[in-house]
Amino acid sequence: MFSKILIANRGEIACRIISTARAMGIETVAVYSDADAHALHVEMADEAVHIGPAPAAESYLRAERIIEAALETGAGAIHPGYGFLSENPDFVTAIEAAGLTFIGPSAAAIARMGLKDAAKTLMQEAGVPVVPGYHGDNQDPEFLATEAEKTGYPVLIKPRAGGGGIGIRKVDRGDDFAAALESAQREAQASFGDPHVLIEKYIGAPRHIEVQIFGDIHGNLIHLFERDCSLQRRYQKVIEEAPAPGMSDEMRAAMTDAALKAAKAIGYTGAGTVEFIVDGSGPLRPDGFWFMEMNTRLQVEHPVTEAITGHDLVEWQIRVAAGEPLPESQAEQRIDGHAFEARLYAEDAANGFLPVTGRLHHLAFGDARIDTGFGQGGVISPHYDPMIAKIICHGATRAEALARLRRALGRTHVAGTITNIGFLSALCAHEGFAAGDTGTGLIERDLKLLTATGNIPELAIAFAAIVALDLDLNAPFAGWRHWGEASHQVILAHGEVPFTRRLVLHGRQSVSLQGGASDVKLDDVQRDGARFRATVAGLKITADVVDYPASERSRCVSVLLEGETWLLSVPDPLAGRDTGTSHENTITAPMTGVVCVMQAQAGASVKAGDGLIVIEAMKMQHSLTAPRDCTIAEVLCAEGDWVESGAVLLRLEEDQAEKGG
Ligand code: ADP
Repeated sequence: MFSKILIANRGEIACRIISTARAMGIETVAVYSDADAHALHVEMADEAVHIGPAPAAESYLRAERIIEAALETGAGAIHPGYGFLSENPDFVTAIEAAGLTFIGPSAAAIARMGLKDAAKTLMQEAGVPVVPGYHGDNQDPEFLATEAEKTGYPVLIKPRAGGGGIGIRKVDRGDDFAAALESAQREAQASFGDPHVLIEKYIGAPRHIEVQIFGDIHGNLIHLFERDCSLQRRYQKVIEEAPAPGMSDEMRAAMTDAALKAAKAIGYTGAGTVEFIVDGSGPLRPDGFWFMEMNTRLQVEHPVTEAITGHDLVEWQIRVAAGEPLPESQAEQRIDGHAFEARLYAEDAANGFLPVTGRLHHLAFGDARIDTGFGQGGVISPHYDPMIAKIICHGATRAEALARLRRALGRTHVAGTITNIGFLSALCAHEGFAAGDTGTGLIERDLKLLTATGNIPELAIAFAAIVALDLDLNAPFAGWRHWGEASHQVILAHGEVPFTRRLVLHGRQSVSLQGGASDVKLDDVQRDGARFRATVAGLKITADVVDYPASERSRCVSVLLEGETWLLSVPDPLAGRDTGTSHENTITAPMTGVVCVMQAQAGASVKAGDGLIVIEAMKMQHSLTAPRDCTIAEVLCAEGDWVESGAVLLRLEEDQAEKGG
């Protein structure tokens, strides 16, 4: 067994691997970029080596630097996690050339599954069902159009080097094929440096079901059942579960058989996942599933398999890499109950799922297994994936596991950024999903319902007001620091709209909030840190309330009440004194990110709607346009600059029309 390993990754997966290594008595070495100097994985590891600047290409993707770090620290093996270098056969070859062990499959196995077209050909030869279509070498547009016609519309065009749903195009009719092909190829070239695509029959009402497999160097190869990852948005997984709803013994036998055949065909060792697209238009049937691709690494969603099998897959990976046989045989495998995993992201679901950044001023979770790379105070930087945590729940039945997940989400409170908790909670409450409908189209179909935000309850405003006014409930006498004042006016904002309320003090730990649609009275208000308890209309309620600085002069208050998080801001009392047009004369950054395109030039005249700046945060681009016809007065940033949310990027000349000119 290794005495020390290096983890060539960051975030939750690096922390996850460190925990298991530590439990096995193995020392750990973390690597980190400039942006991650204070990250949790660095804190958790026994040693940490700095490997470069924030961009992944200059740090987490630098194979030689990482191998050098392993040699310097005396680590005997490298665990790649997922993403970054985890499926790069050259990395494996270089690790082995340095006399170290790669915790994962052979370079040859990775290479053979690396491109979707070659993998499909290989799988066909191994007798695994593949999605009908064309996956040959001929990339002539006319030829591909004929193949699409032969396959039968609708079809999918997929980059062979693809991942993360990038470059995938659905085409419904022949007339649209040429344009879709061109755009898919362009995106594939830009993202993967390889424009090569394949054509696939589009499977209607599809489900995504994948099989976890595990092999060792002694020729043992087993499966650990399936996961259903059908709940997706834009080809990306949102909530995963195991086992798959509606799975029959016959279907499971057929799918796991196919997965094992696939793994056997490439002499697979370690943890791997064989992904299938499944016809979900009716009950699952053994002739209704097809190979999509094989991921030759640990998957993000591996914890649901751990929850139903009781195994630690990272421990198995390390043991297998050290040359040990698999700890258990196929005959020993049992499914225990049901498990879900929800991916908690820093993103604004109500605003097109725009990724957001921020400092996690408060981070509290409900009762669940939490895999996270952040501690309280951690910073979500624009450089990496904005996943905050994975929330994993297990139960004896699907309904029980789902109820636990819903409860855990309802008690999760993240302040300092915007998250998709509300969206995840809405998914857990979705009747169709609860009944086992997991189709990949569910989210898109019900998107409005799932991202709807209701009106903020007066009760949430009341808690925010108590905190915004800094009322000290534990002070002696009547409980209020401002003893003697019967009521306070408070100005708060929810979203863009500021509003005024009056908080009336009735004596010891009793207040009313007035001035809203209806008044609300809170009795016996108790505070213990962030946790508030009160009696409202005879009911005992609890809320989590935290405040944090939003800028130099303004604060935010985040209230978790009855499973929903409400974000309010306490506006800067001096803001109103700025000149009336100042707002319109500046262009500010809507999110923290990198200026990737600067179109504005000082002195240039622009028309309303003209593009000025493009900001990129976490792989998404956001374009800022001119609010009116005007002249650019001053440019305050340059391409490549990292800008904080709210920073002034451009100044515009005074609006002459408004001045009466
Ligand atoms: P990537 O490697 O980019 O993630 P995949 O081949 O894994 O691409 O496909 C991503 C998702 O696209 C799948 O999980 C599934 O939801 C959908 N998908 C893929 N192939 C098909 C198909 N032939 N028919 C319908 N949906 C598909």
